[in-house]
Amino acid sequence: MNPNARGTPHARASGTVYLVGCGPGDPELLTLRAYRLMQGADVALYDHLVSDEVMALLPTTVERIFVGKERDRHTMPQQAINDLLVRHAREGKRVLRLKGGDPFIFGRGGEEIDTLAVEGVPFEVVPGITAALGVASYAGIPLTHRDYAQSCLFVTGHRKEDGFEMDWHALTRPRQTVVVYMGLLGLPALCDGLVAHGMSADTPAAVIQQGTTREQRVVTGTLSTLAQAVTDAMLTPPTLMIVGDVVRLRQKLAWFRPEEADRSAGQPILEASRSPGIDSKRR
Ligand code: SAH
Repeated sequence: MNPNARGTPHARASGTVYLVGCGPGDPELLTLRAYRLMQGADVALYDHLVSDEVMALLPTTVERIFVGKERDRHTMPQQAINDLLVRHAREGKRVLRLKGGDPFIFGRGGEEIDTLAVEGVPFEVVPGITAALGVASYAGIPLTHRDYAQSCLFVTGHRKEDGFEMDWHALTRPRQTVVVYMGLLGLPALCDGLVAHGMSADTPAAVIQQGTTREQRVVTGTLSTLAQAVTDAMLTPPTLMIVGDVVRLRQKLAWFRPEEADRSAGQPILEASRSPGIDSKRR
């Protein structure tokens, strides 16, 4: 049998590492694969982007290792995380590396499995709903729309010492939606940059805090008003910025009411169980 076949970790001496996308927060957005792997795991490495509600679905028997905060990444350098993954797998464990959103969208997923590939540790990647998709849906902002946007661009808004490293030409194309991950700190400079590079100052834009969760807050404006509105609203990370005419649609299409979103607190559809998980069932 192919040693890399999914769902056969027990048959090997080495354990397997599962790099699992956990979506943007609402646990109902987990894939079945993610949920079932969680039920059968031995150890889970996670960071602050994995929501408490998702973590609550891990059986209490699973060892949890916190590996870092966004603005404090150096608490556990990437290499140390990679080494931990290898070490636990070599002990024959089923190791989960839980990631916010999707592991391969601004998630360092490639870096995390690189060491595993070099060390010959079996691994699997489980996609998740990336923040752009989950957050846009819950904010009532379709990322494409026949009348407003035929394309959509995902970028990171991390600033460097000497300003942004941005492809302004690509960002300011017409009839396009731009989604900016990690943009809160540089928001004013980003809005100014877009206008300076040709976008109308009236272009609608939104910042969404903790989308898909009960803490979701949405601030809308234009490229000229958004930065001040976000400051006034005192938004805190994680936030996502959406720029483009589609943001206007929210007025009509907003549907998610965070204050009423008590699905996970009340009667969860998904519950942590002590079942052995998917792998024993898949054979
Ligand atoms: N791999 C992740 C992204 C990691 S980068 C994914 O696919 O979603 C971290 C950034 O994602 C945050 O700074 C923020 O911009 C965005 N993000 C993640 N979850 C979010 C949420 N619930 N609401 C708003 N932004 C979120």
